Amino acid sequence: MAGILIDISERVRREQSLAASEAKFASLFQASPDPVALTTLPDGIAMEINASFSQIFGWQPHEVVGRKMVDLNLWADLSQRTSLYEKLEREQTLDNEVANFLDKEGRLITCVVSSRPITLNDQRCILTTFRDISERQIAQAMLQASQEKFALAFHSSPDAITITERDSGRYIEVNEGFYRLTGYLPEEVIGRSAKDLNVWADLAEREQMIERLKRDGHVYHMEMRGKHRDGHIKLVEVSVESIALNNVPCLLLTARDVSALKDAQAQVQHLAYHDSLTNLPNRALLLDRLTQQIALLKRHDLRGALMFIDLDHFKHINDSLGHPVGDAVLKLVTARLQANVRQEDTVARLGGDEFVVLISGLEGKRSAVVSQVRSVAEKLRQVLAEPMLLEGHQLQVTPSIGIALIPDHGDTPSDLLKRADIALYRAKDAGRNSIRLFRNTMQKAASERLRLENDLRLAQARGEFELHFQPQVDARNNQIIGAEALLRWIHPIQGAQSPALFIHILEESDLILEVGGWVLAEACHACAEFLRKGLVTEHQFSLCVNISPRQFRQHDLVERVETSLANSGLPAHMLKLEITEGIVIQNIDDTIAKMNRLKRLGVSFAMDDFGTGYSSLTYLKRLPVDVLKIDQSFVRDATHDANDAEIIRAIVAMARSLGLDMIAEGVEQIDQLEFLQQQGCFLYQGYLFSKPVALEQFQQMLNDNRIPMTL
Ligand code: C2E
Ligand code: CA
Ligand code: CA
Repeated sequence: MAGILIDISERVRREQSLAASEAKFASLFQASPDPVALTTLPDGIAMEINASFSQIFGWQPHEVVGRKMVDLNLWADLSQRTSLYEKLEREQTLDNEVANFLDKEGRLITCVVSSRPITLNDQRCILTTFRDISERQIAQAMLQASQEKFALAFHSSPDAITITERDSGRYIEVNEGFYRLTGYLPEEVIGRSAKDLNVWADLAEREQMIERLKRDGHVYHMEMRGKHRDGHIKLVEVSVESIALNNVPCLLLTARDVSALKDAQAQVQHLAYHDSLTNLPNRALLLDRLTQQIALLKRHDLRGALMFIDLDHFKHINDSLGHPVGDAVLKLVTARLQANVRQEDTVARLGGDEFVVLISGLEGKRSAVVSQVRSVAEKLRQVLAEPMLLEGHQLQVTPSIGIALIPDHGDTPSDLLKRADIALYRAKDAGRNSIRLFRNTMQKAASERLRLENDLRLAQARGEFELHFQPQVDARNNQIIGAEALLRWIHPIQGAQSPALFIHILEESDLILEVGGWVLAEACHACAEFLRKGLVTEHQFSLCVNISPRQFRQHDLVERVETSLANSGLPAHMLKLEITEGIVIQNIDDTIAKMNRLKRLGVSFAMDDFGTGYSSLTYLKRLPVDVLKIDQSFVRDATHDANDAEIIRAIVAMARSLGLDMIAEGVEQIDQLEFLQQQGCFLYQGYLFSKPVALEQFQQMLNDNRIPMTL
């Protein structure tokens, strides 16, 4: 009984435990997060699938159970299925095989497959679990991609990037940029430290970087000097971050080569301190060097010299031959200056045609130094005055040189520059192409010049300017055919002053514009007055007014002339503007256009001081002038200087062939007039007939002249 009982209880217990394990199996089967399928062997009919299977492959149990699994087209690769089945039969188990499947919709799912044969109710079955690893694969692929991206960034970065172990300083990884910066290949450095390799040029800098890193945990944009393995020093900008790599504290360091940037900066600096045309030091750098020199000379009890060099009539070259030729002249002058001073001397360009030579370290007594400086200046004067052949033009450029001694003539840059400049003015006054050493008496002259400029400003305001008139005469009948209006400054104490004394000061300041405008208005007014009073007739008289180059360049000159004519009521054809060749500035086409606009008003032009300019014929052919005014310097000597006589003949011939009228100025003697008449020049202006006279007197003269006189 007990046995039966036992037997029964055994069976019951066994059945119970079987049921329990079946239940356990079933619940495990269903609850498995991975898809599980139970299929029969050998036909492969689906007995059961779990919820996860439905979820991942899209098949519901009722669509699957009882069907052949193979009909579900689950396997993406049937040959793989076959080979895995064979393996299962051989080894009775499949473990973690990766295979591709398709879900109900045909989407690819990668799974790790494991299969076990089991026997259920005497039926041999296969229990297969599919672990979907598609997502993991994506994640992994993403990780790999991001690692690749990082690697790409790391390796292709133009900067040097290194990863080192923080504690040992050993390199774990370095990139291409590191090789470019240091010349070391990764395989040469990995496992070694920066210290071993000696890649920092300055150990103190390295210490400082480490200090900062300890203090802040990072370093940003620190300028350091790195060393290439060939010894070359490179300026780099370094940033360091602390990172952890596999839980090991590491440092990620980037170093950017900023040498090129620094070079560019230096270049900008260079540009700021040099003149771009000649590459010479400019004013700023000269002042710098001068300051240093003054201190240096003082310390060593030596002398130096500051030479101001200005090219005579340079403006004229620029104006008549154009800026490219002017630039070429400046470059040639630069080369000549540099070739003729010592290495330690400075040649600078202050702008325009102003050069400065700073001579340093002269020993000996003052008199010895002076003669030394003079001989240097004389040498420079000679080399500069040598002829130049530029673009087919044979040119001669003479310099004027003013010198100040250091420290005798000043111990500040501004004093020295001022005094060398004063000496230069004196050299110019002395007829150019000359050299002057500063003297204290010059200072007085310079102050006087300044006072003169002030006085002129006041003169304008006080109405101390006046116009005088010098008649122009036809020698054949002694008739006054016109007059030149000439400016006079009636000084309250010194009386009438010739513009020869002050016109250049007006021209150097803007005063000429104001005064010139006044002359124009006043002259038109006076001439209109002569006409009104019947002293002249409209077609037998013209008034000449001098227009300075600066004045001519005013953008509204035409309008100003128009206004003066309109305000005075003077017929335009009675006005003649006297211009000089210096008027052909920068753009000859602009000049011609302006002249043509004035000509259309009725105004005519006389070319003043003709024969003294550079390029007489070239421009004369293009400029719409009506009259050539033969310069008084030729007239003065025509009767006893064969050369001047020849020039006058040539000018007359030229005027004839160009169809221009001509008038001679500065005619003082009768034989001069006779000579001119022999050449065919009958119109003249000069003391022979009359000096320039005040308005009243001139009106008187016109009045008297109305009845033709006979010589
Ligand atoms: P310029 O235009 O060549 O004027 C002729 C100068 O020669 C005048 O000098 C005149 O007085 C002088 N002169 C005339 N006949 C004789 C003579 O027979 N012998 C000698 N030795 N000299 C004679 P001035 O009046 O002293 O004028 C000097 C210069 O000043 C003028 O030379 C002209 O360039 C300039 N100037 C005069 N007035 C004006 C003006 O209103 N505007 C401008 N821009 N310049 C003027
Ligand atoms: Ca004149
Ligand atoms: Ca003249």
